[in-house]
Amino acid sequence: MRRILLAFLLVFLAACETVPITGRQQISIHGDAEMNALGAREYRRIIEESDVVTGTKDAKLVSEVGNKIKNAVASYFSQNGQADRLKGYRWDFRLIDDDEPNAFCLPGGKVAVHTGILDITKTEAGLAVVMGHEVAHAIANHGNERMSQGLLVDLAGTALLAAVADEDSTTQFALQAAFGLGSELGLLLPFSRLHESEADRLGLIFMAMAGYDPHEAPKFWRRMAAAKEEEGGEGFEFLSTHPSDETRVKDLESAIGEAMTFYRPSGGRQQTVQSSSPQKLRKMRPRNQD
Ligand SMILES: [Zn+2]
Repeated sequence: MRRILLAFLLVFLAACETVPITGRQQISIHGDAEMNALGAREYRRIIEESDVVTGTKDAKLVSEVGNKIKNAVASYFSQNGQADRLKGYRWDFRLIDDDEPNAFCLPGGKVAVHTGILDITKTEAGLAVVMGHEVAHAIANHGNERMSQGLLVDLAGTALLAAVADEDSTTQFALQAAFGLGSELGLLLPFSRLHESEADRLGLIFMAMAGYDPHEAPKFWRRMAAAKEEEGGEGFEFLSTHPSDETRVKDLESAIGEAMTFYRPSGGRQQTVQSSSPQKLRKMRPRNQD
């Protein structure tokens, strides 16, 4: 058992990375090239199966806001000698025709926004809140971290089975049940909440770098919470992994000060999102994209 623990410790130390700006240590076992290839493949599949909106004012705005944020972040990294961090990214920003108020990102900088969220984002700055959040997931390598955690949990389960092989079957069963529960609720869920909070914090900073006022973020999340309320409390999965809307808004408000130190007002006129007729928000399918 001691040898197994030592092996874990070595894997952990060898695979430790630091999230930019927040400085949080994260586990990252998979290579960037592997993650980016996985992200690109999955994105291609989703794009092929979805109604991608092109040529409209909204589609152009999604691409413009995404590129503004991406360019601002890239210039921040290159000014701080960290241009290498973005080397493997192939950014892509798309609008998908889907009523579900959602947005998602895949490793390597693939970001998609649903038309259903445009009624809630309302303005260009509101859209920047959502896209800043998604760009943050990509830059903080949350996909790699989550997959690495999954791998470690599997390995730990295997190690546990080996360690208790001599125990009677009741003890084995009890240990497995305890570990199964512990790994799911104790490890993976809090980490995904942590990812949401970190993407919120970095998202504020990234939108500020691109010239969008981070004070727009709590306003957007209040509108999101109201839209959710209107739907009878059914959770949109864009919110599902976060503790509560109030906590989120409170955390965002207290992170605005930090984000304002990165704020570079662009001075340019921002556009209003021309969303189509008032869209009905329909019940959400539970999906694990946020
Ligand atoms: Zn998220």
